[in-house]
Amino acid sequence: MINRLVILGATGDLSARFLLPALVALRSAGNLGDGFRLTGASREDWDGARYREWVTAQIERHGGHYPADTKAAVADAADYRRADVTNPAHVAAVVAGDDPVAVYLALPPALFPVVVTALHEAGLPPGSRVVLEKPFGANLSDARELNRLLAELVPEQAVFRVDHFLAMTTVQNVLGSRLANRVLEPLWNSTHIAEVDIVWDETLALEGRAGYYDTVGALKDMVQNHLLQLLCLVAMEPPITLGERDLRDRKVDVLRSVRLLTEDDVLRCTRRARYLAGRIGDRDIPAYADEEGVDPDRRMETYAEVELELDSWRWSGTTFRLRTGKALRANRKEVAVRFRSVPHLPFGHSGEAHPNVLRFGLEPEDLTFDLTGIGAHTDTLAPLSLTARMEPPHLPAYGRLLLDVLNGDPALSIRGDEAEEAWRVLTPVLTAWEKDLVPLEEYPAGSDGPTPAW
Ligand code: NAP
Repeated sequence: MINRLVILGATGDLSARFLLPALVALRSAGNLGDGFRLTGASREDWDGARYREWVTAQIERHGGHYPADTKAAVADAADYRRADVTNPAHVAAVVAGDDPVAVYLALPPALFPVVVTALHEAGLPPGSRVVLEKPFGANLSDARELNRLLAELVPEQAVFRVDHFLAMTTVQNVLGSRLANRVLEPLWNSTHIAEVDIVWDETLALEGRAGYYDTVGALKDMVQNHLLQLLCLVAMEPPITLGERDLRDRKVDVLRSVRLLTEDDVLRCTRRARYLAGRIGDRDIPAYADEEGVDPDRRMETYAEVELELDSWRWSGTTFRLRTGKALRANRKEVAVRFRSVPHLPFGHSGEAHPNVLRFGLEPEDLTFDLTGIGAHTDTLAPLSLTARMEPPHLPAYGRLLLDVLNGDPALSIRGDEAEEAWRVLTPVLTAWEKDLVPLEEYPAGSDGPTPAW
């Protein structure tokens, strides 16, 4: 296990809300010993004591209910180095040492190539690992170039392109439900499944993150990574083991099987939109174009919808719909697997069969099976729903990911070829959207978005 974590971009939102709380959870679970050291770096003119103060405050705010000595142990393990990561000498000073180190790039993604190059010049201690956040490049050629730079730095097994969705309990349960039960897998194909909806609708609007979001948009922020990863887990062939090679090979197969959209397909099968002013609950939401820091001429989408087909024996004939939007009326975060209707209903005029839908809830984390049963009047058909709530996870998603990084298990991180395939799938969409071939629609904040709910 690696005992030293370096966070480049240590004073940012990701560190405060996810990485530091994850370290507290790991300490509490007994996964971080006294030998663990954290080095934070950013351009703030701080010393170690000032950084520890900040760490303590963030852990108090976001760290959850853990004993004071657990939280203090994480703050005490922290030290700080002021560094501009565009300066190779600064980067070299931060990572210097003999023991292997895990370097977490919690930085604006545009800095990834320059930092990876600086790390290469500095030379990492043997056995070191590098962790990159999303988005992995801004397009396929960026991703290829970043992969090339990473390959010069460390072996592929030491590169962790993280996607925290993969460590969520319900997402893991997509695998559990499919692969550890007799009932589902025989039905898991286009003969029985008509559609799979992979949805991340949120009531959250921009919430002050224009600097990041306005350069990325819904398609690159959510679909290119999280939603395509969910598609992979739902659609992949059962792997031999959940080891990194078997699991990631099967996920890449899914991406390779996605039928590339032609320009006509993009017009028919994708939608993009951005929100206008509106009201969500008791909050007045300004139009996206009027949010502070947004460049309205960039015409960035806050809603993206893409319909995909897979060219494979298992899935030919099933439609996969991926959709995400901000500032919508309600949170709906789920993978909904919709089964085809039964071939015959022997109930006369006793009502309609309700479609069978298996829902993997992502937030809240639960599993629901919508079925048809018999209602209070014994001869009428009625909806019947079975719900299982997930136990609260032993570790938060980022805790699980950091543990994998420190232990050197990349199974839940994205392999280089996988990242490139994910960009390949979306390249026709990006190209057509950049050419403005698909109109940028508008929807009022607090509405259901441009598409009526499925
Ligand atoms: P952020 O709040 O803007 O923080 C960026 C950090 O990078 C700050 O500590 C900043 O500190 C530092 N930084 C910027 N330029 C630097 C430079 N030249 N040298 C050294 N440090 C520099 O961004 P974030 O939200 O934490 O996001 C970080 C990464 O995580 C991004 O890749 C993002 O896409 C990804 N991510 C974020 C979230 C989230 O919820 N926040 C979720 C998933 C993924 P100084 O400006 O003081 O140097």
